[in-house]
Amino acid sequence: MARIRCAPPRIAAADTRRVLPPPKRADAELLTPEHRAWREAVLQRAGHRCEAIEGGRRCEVRAPARLFADHIRERRDGGAGLDPANGQCLCGRHHTLKTARARAERMAAPVG
Ligand SMILES: [Zn+2]
Repeated sequence: MARIRCAPPRIAAADTRRVLPPPKRADAELLTPEHRAWREAVLQRAGHRCEAIEGGRRCEVRAPARLFADHIRERRDGGAGLDPANGQCLCGRHHTLKTARARAERMAAPVG
């Protein structure tokens, strides 16, 4: 039986983005059994409830809302990756706020 061959397209699809996002890949360290155990320990200690304190009151968000095991001192800032003492349970909103604050502090830090 004759096979019909298709010629490849002669014009490549244009990607009009000016800056391409980095390829999506999960941080390998976050996929290890050790990290999963750390995450579970942090969430369990918090009773699966956000630990952020706002206005003197603890955030009410709890499972089944999505919760993050957050590194209090971020790993890129030298925080221990697998020490439960460096972990806290945060809801999505508080995790976003905290990440933005850590980033702002990092950018404000003197270089050198
Ligand atoms: Zn919260």
